[in-house]
Amino acid sequence: MSDFRADLHCHTTCSDGSLSPTQVVERAAAIGLQGLSITDHDTIAAYAEALPVAQKLGISLVSGVEFSAVHADTNVHILAYAFPLDSPLIQGLCERHHARRRQRCCRILERLAQKGIDLQRDSSLLHAIETSSVGRPHVAAAMVRNGSVRSIEEAFKRYLGEGRSCYVSVDPITAEETLAVIHEAGGLAVLAHPHLLPEERVLLDVLKLPFDGIEAYYARFGQYRNQRWVDIAAQRGWLITGGSDFHGEAKPQIALGVSWVNAEVFQVLWEHYEVRS
Ligand code: AMP
Ligand code: ZN
Ligand code: FE
Ligand code: FE
Repeated sequence: MSDFRADLHCHTTCSDGSLSPTQVVERAAAIGLQGLSITDHDTIAAYAEALPVAQKLGISLVSGVEFSAVHADTNVHILAYAFPLDSPLIQGLCERHHARRRQRCCRILERLAQKGIDLQRDSSLLHAIETSSVGRPHVAAAMVRNGSVRSIEEAFKRYLGEGRSCYVSVDPITAEETLAVIHEAGGLAVLAHPHLLPEERVLLDVLKLPFDGIEAYYARFGQYRNQRWVDIAAQRGWLITGGSDFHGEAKPQIALGVSWVNAEVFQVLWEHYEVRS
């Protein structure tokens, strides 16, 4: 068991990743992962497809989702794990996010149209609005396709990033409410990539919330960036989790499995999941 590795954070085409659920599980098997959680933004749609593939390939796939939440006017991502996939509470929260995301995307497209950037005929963007947990990366990719920007980065920098001309804020779902739903559904709540929170003041406030764990090992960050979060989790008796935040071609520098957890951590999630499913 000593070579056991599980990546607890990755995305598929159900949100803004570029590989399908099947392809992500196949990639996990190909690189020798034995455990995985797929954590799409605000959706668990990948599991219907991914579960039979994981079973066939001998990968333990634990339920997961990355919820978008807001605390003190700051976007905070919260990972939920080990909840029953048929939980009406989790499914209900995902539905609320889906409606919000669709509306927000349409408002962004209106703003872009006012600037002469017309994406209304981009069939793959329209498909994403209907079927996926659509987000700004989908809009940015469509802007690259129609030639109005050269890169996703440029789309965020000039138009879609916070405070830019076509940025549309979301009706917030608070971190407190998100944690309450996860707990009521029987799941475990983990603060995603605390490294990326922009302000210390917000971070200290967020850390007062009743999390069960913290994503201390993240993407390609090294021990220097991760240790603070390991120490905080250890002090509080929180789970110390980790994952790559793999998005495929959408973030080509981050490979699946670059951050991971060992058997001991995965076992905590797995036992929690098995008891509740
Ligand atoms: P949304 O969920 O629509 O608010 O979009 C947020 C997602 O956009 C994040 O999870 C990132 O994957 C991506 N993102 C945010 N900022 C940037 C940026 N500057 N360049 C590229 N991708 C970004
Ligand atoms: Zn993403
Ligand atoms: Fe995130
Ligand atoms: Fe993520």
